Amino acid sequence: MLYEDLKIRTGWTLSQKIDHAVGTIEAFLAKTDGKGYISFSGGKDSTVLLDIARRFVRRGFPAVFSNTGNEFPEIVQFVRTFDDVTIIRPKMRISDVLSKYGFPLVSKEQSQYIRQARNTNSEILRNIRINGKQGRNGYKQGKIDDKWLFLIKAPFEVSELCCQKLKKDPFHTYSKETGLYPIIGTMASESRLRLQKWLKTGCNSFDSKNIASYPLSIWTENDIWEYIHKLKVPYSPIYDKGCNRTGCMFCGFGCHMEKGLFNRFDVLQNLHPKAYQTFMAYENNGVTYRDALEYIGIKLPDSKNRQLRLFGIDEIINTNKVNSYESNYS
Ligand code: SF4
Repeated sequence: MLYEDLKIRTGWTLSQKIDHAVGTIEAFLAKTDGKGYISFSGGKDSTVLLDIARRFVRRGFPAVFSNTGNEFPEIVQFVRTFDDVTIIRPKMRISDVLSKYGFPLVSKEQSQYIRQARNTNSEILRNIRINGKQGRNGYKQGKIDDKWLFLIKAPFEVSELCCQKLKKDPFHTYSKETGLYPIIGTMASESRLRLQKWLKTGCNSFDSKNIASYPLSIWTENDIWEYIHKLKVPYSPIYDKGCNRTGCMFCGFGCHMEKGLFNRFDVLQNLHPKAYQTFMAYENNGVTYRDALEYIGIKLPDSKNRQLRLFGIDEIINTNKVNSYESNYS
């Protein structure tokens, strides 16, 4: 697929995108003998996907929800209002996953690169993760962003494997046991990884390692809300409580990009203070999640330096960390 195609399709009207999503699901089912299920997270995107599947493709379309133990209670309650949703669970507890593999910080891609740079025995891979590899487009690829290089020396592990253990593995097990393949409500615009995946396979992937459908790839967040409002689709009340993201309550992916005075941890502490305290106390290598978040400059609601942080002191701290890292490695 070409990036130009994505740009054109992203500009389609909502009704064109609905037709396209329905066509994508039907094409996927035709190739898999009808063996599809909706991967339902209870968030607005997969709520729309489930609605499309049940309204336009087949009533009672099967759906599966993975309860990681880390979902907003509002999401779990919302999921329970639907019929024909199978609830699956991971084998490991969150605290064990974080303690064994490390904290999910920055992004899935960067967490993976940092984990590999810290733990690989291959000097070649470590060098790629630190310095990058020359790509065809002339840019360095496969590299930890300069801003996060200091995490290679952090006193705790950083890892993307949390997603593998809490989400991917339970879904893989489900797929293996039932012979059904996932239909997933992600959008190509959400991350670099998702864009790359779409450029490689388009909306339906029949790659033997990844048989899955992504019917909302060309949608935007505005399309999702337009669909919800136009078709009067019920959605989780969490969105009306100041939360603009769902998924795992404590996840650190993308939290450094939240602008403004209030971030996801402010919202979490406000809505579910007990869960907030539990998550902040999780440990890796004897370092708490709270300390790891502050280490990367996240403003926590109950931080002692909260007031100083609001005035930008954390930026100064981080700049010093990067400078000292760079002087060690130059
Ligand atoms: S979304 Fe974040 S917290 Fe949830 S499983 Fe994935 S890495 Fe872990």
